[in-house]
Amino acid sequence: MPEPIETDSDDESQHRDVLIVGGGVAGLTAALYTARAGLDTLVYDGGESILRRNAHLENFPGFPAGVNPRLFADMLHAQATRNGVDLVAGRITDIDHAGSDGDDEPGFLATDEDGDTVRADRVVAASWSDVEYLNTLDPEIRSAGSKAYLDEDGNGRTSVDGLYAAGRLAERYHQAVVAAGDGAATGITLIHDSETPFYHDWVTPEGYFTDRGREVPPGCEEIDETERAARRAESRAAMREYFAEEHEQDQRTHPSLVDDEKGRLSEQ
Ligand SMILES: Cc1cc2nc3c(=O)[nH]c(=O)nc-3n(C[C@H](O)[C@H](O)[C@H](O)COP(=O)(O)OP(=O)(O)OC[C@H]3O[C@@H](n4cnc5c(N)ncnc54)[C@H](O)[C@@H]3O)c2cc1C
Repeated sequence: MPEPIETDSDDESQHRDVLIVGGGVAGLTAALYTARAGLDTLVYDGGESILRRNAHLENFPGFPAGVNPRLFADMLHAQATRNGVDLVAGRITDIDHAGSDGDDEPGFLATDEDGDTVRADRVVAASWSDVEYLNTLDPEIRSAGSKAYLDEDGNGRTSVDGLYAAGRLAERYHQAVVAAGDGAATGITLIHDSETPFYHDWVTPEGYFTDRGREVPPGCEEIDETERAARRAESRAAMREYFAEEHEQDQRTHPSLVDDEKGRLSEQ
């Protein structure tokens, strides 16, 4: 099974176009879109998507007989890295405005649990259910019992300029396809705000635009039959490999039910 490629965070002063906090369904989908639009995108993931607790994912479009959610989460990782997203395994513990120390630096300065820092022009919070690291930025948050949701304008923009929210943290319905769609929508909002030339993220057959006398719009790609055949073959081979064997990761349940900090049920 192809493993996600992970980036080391040793480089102390990385500067990225986009930092995404949370490598679950919403965060990885947002990252897929920003990276494919050419924005240098880094995802920090400090644990495991809550989707890994699901027993069998039966309502995500495209899988008629459902799919193992842990396999699905791994496939999201692989799709993100294949499209240029860098991934770090670690938690973000604080984010401040980059210029808060008096210089004119725009954007944000994020600190992780090891004290390493990342500068980013824009940040997407997709970190269900953690908002603690946002205390310094102090965005508008709606508290509901033990849960906290980031307020946003319906397209992912929060009350802090340059900070976006996606997925369950943005109080979207608690369904994977909704988190994925919201991640995509937030990613596209961010792309537009960054003034990156973008029409739609579409792959079309050769001539779709150009045979009508149009330029291929930014974000789109025309591919010829040779390229289409190559991509189809690669996709068939990859899917055969993904589904050839049972996924090895143990089933999770609610962490309060099992004496394992991640709530793993041993399947041995
Ligand atoms: C038992 C169970 C069964 C479910 N079954 C289904 C189902 O059948 N169908 C369906 O559609 N949905 C199902 N869901 C819901 C679905 O899993 C969620 O709606 C979806 O995963 C939300 O996506 P998200 O990206 O917002 O959050 P997540 O996928 O949970 O991702 C958030 C990520 O952020 C990371 N993170 C948090 N804080 C930080 C930080 N400070 N720094 C770095 N990373 C951080 C977390 O580790 C996590 O990886 C189920 C959920 C549960 C619990």
